[in-house]
Amino acid sequence: MSVNFANNEPSAPIERLALELSSAAADLARRGWTPAASGNFSARLDPLRIAITVSGCDKGRLTPGDIMLMDDQAHALGDSRQPSAEARLHAQIYRLLPQTGAVLHTHSVTQTVASRHFSGAGHVCLAGYELVKAIHGHHSHEQDLLLPVFPNSQDMTEIERHVGAWHAQRQPLHAYLIAGHGIYAWGHDIATAMRHIEAIDFMLACELELRKLPA
Ligand SMILES: [Zn+2]
Repeated sequence: MSVNFANNEPSAPIERLALELSSAAADLARRGWTPAASGNFSARLDPLRIAITVSGCDKGRLTPGDIMLMDDQAHALGDSRQPSAEARLHAQIYRLLPQTGAVLHTHSVTQTVASRHFSGAGHVCLAGYELVKAIHGHHSHEQDLLLPVFPNSQDMTEIERHVGAWHAQRQPLHAYLIAGHGIYAWGHDIATAMRHIEAIDFMLACELELRKLPA
């Protein structure tokens, strides 16, 4: 199976998904959330195929041709290129949370500082925010949003293990931070995942600002 993005078939589902994904990535890159070609983005095409950014491409100049297909074990499908280094983490989210349609991973200053600040606690609880209603399943500012903070590792299976253990304890899993690294957020489609990552970044920024105020 190979993906040909130059066949002038804009109505093909894979092409529409690749266009939407590259435009979301460009939006996040414009915000400065993908420094030094970091970050990676994916969307599920069907139960067996996931579209994901290829390794090392500049997310600010991403085109649909920089999107490739992999399976839910992060193996490339019909492509000699390799998916992003962290593709395994994307694949894990699709397996654990089958309703997921898109996964976004970025490294904003806010996400990275918050991931370091809260790494000792192992989580951050976002409480009292109107904007929590932007997160699927949250209908009132009185609902908290608990985000785990997992230790960073260059071994993706290590991070997978932490995510799996958290999920196995039936803890809420709407997004997670990796210490000194960034965030993974997702949703049932790309627009929802974008709304989630934007709302969480905003609430994390508020948490960090609150800590600057005198007690
Ligand atoms: Zn990363």
